[in-house]
Amino acid sequence: MKSTMQDTPLSIGQLVRFGTSIHATATVTTWSETGPTTVTFADLGRRAAQLAHGLRELGVDGDQRVGTFMWNNAAHMEAYMAVPAMGAVLHTLNIRLFPEQLTYIVEHAEDHVIIADGSLLPLLVPLLSTMSTVRHLVVVGADPSSVDAPGSITVHGYDDLLTGRPETFDWPELNETDAAAMCYTSGTTGDPKGVVYSHRSIWLHSMQACMTDAMALSQRDSVLAIVPMFHAMSWGLPYAALMVGASLIMPDRFLQPAPLAEMLSTLRPTATAAVPTIWQALLVHLEEHPVDLSSLREVLVGGSACPPSLIRAFREKYGVPISQAWGMTETSPLGTSGRPDAGLSPEDEFDRRCTQGRFVAGVRARLVDDAGTVLPWDGEQVGELEVRGPWITGSYYRADGSDKFDDGWLRTGDVGTISPEGYLTLTDRSKDIIKSGGEWISSVELENHVVEHPAVLEAAVIGVPDPKWDERPLVAVVVKDGQSVTPEELREFLDGRVAHWQLPERWTFIDEVPKTSVGKYDKKRLRGSHAEGKLD
Ligand code: ADP
Repeated sequence: MKSTMQDTPLSIGQLVRFGTSIHATATVTTWSETGPTTVTFADLGRRAAQLAHGLRELGVDGDQRVGTFMWNNAAHMEAYMAVPAMGAVLHTLNIRLFPEQLTYIVEHAEDHVIIADGSLLPLLVPLLSTMSTVRHLVVVGADPSSVDAPGSITVHGYDDLLTGRPETFDWPELNETDAAAMCYTSGTTGDPKGVVYSHRSIWLHSMQACMTDAMALSQRDSVLAIVPMFHAMSWGLPYAALMVGASLIMPDRFLQPAPLAEMLSTLRPTATAAVPTIWQALLVHLEEHPVDLSSLREVLVGGSACPPSLIRAFREKYGVPISQAWGMTETSPLGTSGRPDAGLSPEDEFDRRCTQGRFVAGVRARLVDDAGTVLPWDGEQVGELEVRGPWITGSYYRADGSDKFDDGWLRTGDVGTISPEGYLTLTDRSKDIIKSGGEWISSVELENHVVEHPAVLEAAVIGVPDPKWDERPLVAVVVKDGQSVTPEELREFLDGRVAHWQLPERWTFIDEVPKTSVGKYDKKRLRGSHAEGKLD
């Protein structure tokens, strides 16, 4: 029997229509050197319409890819709205990829237009001659006539492209399963892989993101979106904000602890989201330059495991709960949410917050061992996490990737346990786990313990070859300014916290842990430095 429900597509056009009318007064505030600038969702809607008209004139009349090479700001939000709503495909380019990777993804996605921030042109312009599909470059906040682009590319000023165009656009009816946006994984192993989100997947993901036990976004919120709009669509915040009328604060290129602290204290967001390394750096800054964080109801942390010491510090020093979520570019990204269940003692609640959280509705999960056996959710048996659901990719764009899928499930490459209540605890990424004498050592667990030491700012652990045990952990430690600590003291500190056989004998002190393009510990680079003898 068929339902009697209308078959209306879930489209970004509808989301834009809704957000810019019902939530016309919600705002996007962009930080700058001269202070913040605020525009309303209604303003954004008018400019998104003008942008769509401008892009039509540049030949975007189907599913052409429109790349963005931009920071988090209002203009980027306009592209988020206009490009998918008009039926084209938004391709958020990670500005921190290596040049050859950028060329690769622009060519692979066949971007027709790139909208680029003026401050980023020195990174992009030298590569334009390698980007054969690009026909138009639209520059935001820079003089187009000063851009030295190859003859095959026409350069336009963003405001020139918009000025004088109609402030409404008849967003077309689209098929909800059509491509709306795409994002490439940052390619820590091999070439970046393209994930293509549909209108439907973005809609459903946005609804999930707003739910009370996920990000709980509402029109009462003002969210400081630190996570880049090129990192898994800023974890879904822009579209979720449009859906519920949550205001957004965009840091633009001001991602250092001092401006972030100023944004937190002067713009008083109710929530904020970023990877752990941002919060670790901010905490150190706040020790010397304390600010009032009382406006925050929650800090969202994801992208890599959140050290318990960070969760404790935010709670004890600032009274702000950290909610950890797990996800991937491939999962839109929300896979789990870190809100513990009700009625727990403070200790149990803390322990639950240190897990990766529980799966959200719509995401099915299973753990699989090396032999392909599906393991029980008993909180003990360790396997690779596999997921499926309406906002989880089922393939990569124009790539094989068959080893990443298992009978319709996405193999995440993450290894851990799931408790009977559905709490995911990740031990490691499979490529980072340390195999020592036939046993596994979790690099994440060691890191979490080492950063508990008061003299330690950052700690990254990698497995290094060992003639007797196959692999042993090497701990790369960054000591806080003005502090000192020895390997012996750190070993003593770990003794009793981890099993004796896991106690690392190899330690190295470095100035900074190298970070990936999205701010995670770059263990591949650390392993490379070790192999070149630069870490001993
Ligand atoms: P990249 O693969 O380039 O790092 P992604 O952001 O897509 O980019 O990374 C997804 C991976 O990040 C996951 O597979 C997992 O290893 C890690 N990750 C995300 N959230 C968490 C979390 N809360 N705890 C531990 N690891 C996480």
